Amino acid sequence: MEHSTHIEISKSALYNNLSFIKKLLGSKTAFSSVIKGNAYGHGVENIVPLEEEFGVSHFSVFNADEALKVFQASNGSSTIMIMGMLLPEQIEWAIENDVEFVAFDIGRVKTALQYAEKIKKKAKIHIEIETGMNRTGLERKNIPRICKLIQDNKNYVEIKGVCTHFAGAESIANYYRVKKQEKAYQSALKKMEECGIVPEKRHVACSAAAIKYPKTKMDMARIGILQYGFFPTREIMISYLSHSKTNINPLKRIITWKSKVMGKKSIKQGEFVGYGNSFFANSTMEIAIVPIGYSQGYSRSLSNQGRVLIGGHFAHIVGVVNMSMILVDITNIANVQLGDEVVLIGKQGEHEISVASFSDFTNQVNYELLTRLPVDIPRIVTE
Ligand SMILES: *Cc1c(COP(=O)(O)O)cnc(C)c1O
Repeated sequence: MEHSTHIEISKSALYNNLSFIKKLLGSKTAFSSVIKGNAYGHGVENIVPLEEEFGVSHFSVFNADEALKVFQASNGSSTIMIMGMLLPEQIEWAIENDVEFVAFDIGRVKTALQYAEKIKKKAKIHIEIETGMNRTGLERKNIPRICKLIQDNKNYVEIKGVCTHFAGAESIANYYRVKKQEKAYQSALKKMEECGIVPEKRHVACSAAAIKYPKTKMDMARIGILQYGFFPTREIMISYLSHSKTNINPLKRIITWKSKVMGKKSIKQGEFVGYGNSFFANSTMEIAIVPIGYSQGYSRSLSNQGRVLIGGHFAHIVGVVNMSMILVDITNIANVQLGDEVVLIGKQGEHEISVASFSDFTNQVNYELLTRLPVDIPRIVTE
């Protein structure tokens, strides 16, 4: 357990975002909550129970380890879908436990069929179609083969979905590529239907697509970043707001990242502070030592640039971010005590450090900053 820092997860902010998503998707589109990357850094063990309590019942993860975490955190009423990595031997576990998974090649379907036959239970699979991202995805020329395989083994497989993923729906620069992908997906779907395969759910949309390309919502949308209170990009936020009646951001950040003052020191004029000579004290100053560093995901590029909140005031980072510590300037903040709360991301008094403002300095997008927050920082759910 790490005691120098903790993360707070706001239940009311999460529920605000889930209500927004529910409205965005409407009654015809199911919501799959994407919680890969430890629920984008928020902690699977917190997010799953909170969301189930809200009524969410479908979770998408990247691999079998993540699926197991959801399995353990869940009340047992939810569907889990693995979108990516799955070792052949993990496929048996998935089938046994009704965990659904995406298949993007014939090999995985064959392996699934073998295990399904062995344990006499249907594999629940989603076929991912290659439509232009050129990452995972079944080549469309292989559709007839996979159809035959499925038709010949109907007792061992259930086609839960046919899906694809867009190569950058969050930027208008990719408009034609996305549109081409939509077309390719529709033609693949038709091909599958012609050979008698009708998926339970057609699903292609991520957060950006659900906002920017409403037709892609279909039967289910796989939504990640919106849940955590962020638009995928500023562009998508502007696009959303320009179509809405207000210009107020409907999403709320659910994460607050905090630490504490660990030490204080007075610096004489003319001294360098911290490693090397990147910070020179032009005058006498007071600094506070905060036990947070790049080993806890606090980017080294915030050296001499980032800021934190102490006593409701901004305190600038002095010198380089160390592995486990930063030094901040508290010269103009009165009465700072050891143990005082330090906010790295979030509100304190009248000021706020947003994830975006924080990552502007480092060129890390929200996605990367959040998921890099180490798993062992304690997460605490607050109202
Ligand atoms: C991560 C992911 C999503 C969710 O993306 P967001 O932009 O966070 O909504 C959807 N589909 C797939 C395949 C993903 O990997």
